[in-house]
Amino acid sequence: MATPSAPSSSLPPLSSTEHQPPLPPQQSSSSSSALSPPSSILVIGSGVFGLTTAYALSRRHDFANTTITVVDRADPSNPDVFPAPDAASVDTSRIIRADYPDAAYAALAAEAQLQWRQQTHPDDLGSEGRYSESGLLLVADGPAPSLGTPVVTGTTVIDKSKLTGMDYARFSWANVLSIASSDPELAARIKECPNTEAIKAALGTGGSSGSWGYINGLSGWANAGASIAWLYKRVRAEGRINFVAGEVTNLEVSGNTVTGARLSDGRVLSADLVMVSAGAWTGRLVDLTGQAIATGQVLGYIDLTPEEEAQLAHMPVILNLSSGLFVIPPKNGVLKIARHAYGYLNPTTLFTPPLGSSVTASAAAISLPLTTLSDPILQIPTEGADDLRRALHEMVPLPSLRDRPFSKTRICWYSDTPTADFIIDYHPEYKGLFVATGDSGHAFKFMPVIGEKIADVIAGQCPPEFVGKWNWRYPAGDAAIKAVITEDGSRGGIPGLILSTELGRAVN
Ligand SMILES: Cc1cc2nc3c(=O)[nH]c(=O)nc-3n(C[C@H](O)[C@H](O)[C@H](O)COP(=O)(O)OP(=O)(O)OC[C@H]3O[C@@H](n4cnc5c(N)ncnc54)[C@H](O)[C@@H]3O)c2cc1C
Repeated sequence: MATPSAPSSSLPPLSSTEHQPPLPPQQSSSSSSALSPPSSILVIGSGVFGLTTAYALSRRHDFANTTITVVDRADPSNPDVFPAPDAASVDTSRIIRADYPDAAYAALAAEAQLQWRQQTHPDDLGSEGRYSESGLLLVADGPAPSLGTPVVTGTTVIDKSKLTGMDYARFSWANVLSIASSDPELAARIKECPNTEAIKAALGTGGSSGSWGYINGLSGWANAGASIAWLYKRVRAEGRINFVAGEVTNLEVSGNTVTGARLSDGRVLSADLVMVSAGAWTGRLVDLTGQAIATGQVLGYIDLTPEEEAQLAHMPVILNLSSGLFVIPPKNGVLKIARHAYGYLNPTTLFTPPLGSSVTASAAAISLPLTTLSDPILQIPTEGADDLRRALHEMVPLPSLRDRPFSKTRICWYSDTPTADFIIDYHPEYKGLFVATGDSGHAFKFMPVIGEKIADVIAGQCPPEFVGKWNWRYPAGDAAIKAVITEDGSRGGIPGLILSTELGRAVN
């Protein structure tokens, strides 16, 4: 079977430095718009966005004299925990796919997949169970398309706000076929599932979901917690970055220049450039009204017997883009079921409004994450638990699992934008402030490549295919006051559910 290999122009791999000679630091590309490196950078948040950016900057010649500090609100009793266990970048699994309707994200994900697939040495990113190429069955509900493969070219502009789940699936199919088209063996691993029976056969659990879809044998899933720990270990080993455990309460400002960040224990960390990459918590520090909002997503884990795990060992990941429901194949006796939805909002009143907010302290209520770190008995609402149970019955209908309780549940938080595009840009009003957030529930797969791209933007070189997608956008008119709803065709559930209301109905 053919294995995709890295093109000669690929970025330095995020692979082991122990069995290869150390890689030379990268030069940023130069052009008239290149910016000169600051003498110090403070990165707030050590998730995928923050940690990979700090790492990428630390390897660049032109940032060789820049002091790089990463601060994360890790467990104070365990300052070695980066990122925090309730961060989006920490979980048993994340889907690794190039299946995107937007060709730019599809190509970037395909570039990342080359590194996820590195499994030659135990220290390679994809080794030791960090990456499994199980295949991904992408399906949607509704009338099955009769038009064949949609034509997508590099210049096709898709209005993401108009996409249905079926559109998302069909355009993704076109993009992954296009990426694999140069190698017939790779292209053969992507197969259309034109009806329920074909979906059932591809799933192999006895269940089915959706009316049309395709299976992509080139996609899979990663152990997110183990992968970010793998990266953190490498970054620490280089000794180039200072790590600080602490919770940032606000940004320090002088006039219209951000000069650092204040921590909850009173310490102040000063820097020439502050990058806020605090995931779904970013809106607490920088006003993102109309641009991004924290939404809570439900997950459930079910313990399996060894026999049940063996029965499901060869199932692919399945994701229904109309319901948002998905199941990750079992590992270590645990099956994970989740929902990629509009999510729950958690309106929270802030006594210190975020930087750039035009409202007074008492009126500054924004959606912020609520997790078991601050509420140890937090469970998922019945509405979400019922939907996860529906996914189990539909996608993995083993009779023995039908009523088995979840061994664990979790609410995990996205920073959602209207189009699911990331926000990676300098703040237009405050000097010395850069923001990397708006992950919209799909950034983990980019771990091997996103730091280099963010570093490019910091250096004034936004990749051309993401110009107009990653930039800071001031919402105008109604959009400035309306809650953000992500309309990229991939979400299930109901928009605008309030977490406290749903929890008040009953808990599971
Ligand atoms: C349920 C779920 C399923 C997902 N599935 C997939 C998937 O299948 N495939 C995929 O590619 N992606 C997936 N994602 C998305 C992916 O996990 C995220 O896009 C990515 O991890 C976001 O990284 P981040 O760095 O923006 O945020 P985070 O990982 O949340 O990191 C933010 C960091 O900032 C720190 N922080 C916050 N506030 C402060 C503060 N005030 N002071 C100091 N530190 C602070 C936090 O402790 C945290 O470590 C999923 C996400 C969720 C929640």
